[in-house]
Amino acid sequence: MSAWIGLGANLGDRLATLRTALSAMGALPGTRVQGVSSLYGSAPVDAGGPDYLNAVAQVQTTLAPHALLAQLQAIEQAAGRERPYRNAPRTLDLDILLYGDEVIDTPTLTVPHPRLHERAFALCPLAELAPDRVPAHQLAAVAPQRIDRVQGADWAIQATRQLS
Ligand code: AMP
Repeated sequence: MSAWIGLGANLGDRLATLRTALSAMGALPGTRVQGVSSLYGSAPVDAGGPDYLNAVAQVQTTLAPHALLAQLQAIEQAAGRERPYRNAPRTLDLDILLYGDEVIDTPTLTVPHPRLHERAFALCPLAELAPDRVPAHQLAAVAPQRIDRVQGADWAIQATRQLS
């Protein structure tokens, strides 16, 4: 199944953290990274701290949705993420934006991600990889949000080359 994962980091060496996370995703059981978006910078939404770096990765995985979530949370933990309070600045945030065409609504997992359509930092990189999954009216709705494309998809070359 194809899944699209949102990556965000706003503490520490943000780029190194995202590259490490990408490598770790590609090393998950039954999983490989199929595509990576450009790298974006965005101001935190409803939260403090420095700007985020964001990207989206497309993975091909045999992991079921909740198993994938558990693995992504383990990668977050390995990156030293702490959760002192809601929306606190975090070293690494990994979200399942889409999992194929599945609609999932459980206490621990909601897919499509419930805030995907509100956030330019998720929609814009997702639109690069899966334009058919991001309607123009949704992109238009988030256009006022400040988001900068800071580097093309080559930010991830090191991380994905380690896999091959
Ligand atoms: P956050 O602190 O914003 O990363 O939220 C993490 C919580 O969101 C976790 O406890 C997950 O169980 C829950 N969650 C619900 N849907 C998703 C999703 N699509 N991707 C990642 N986490 C999710």
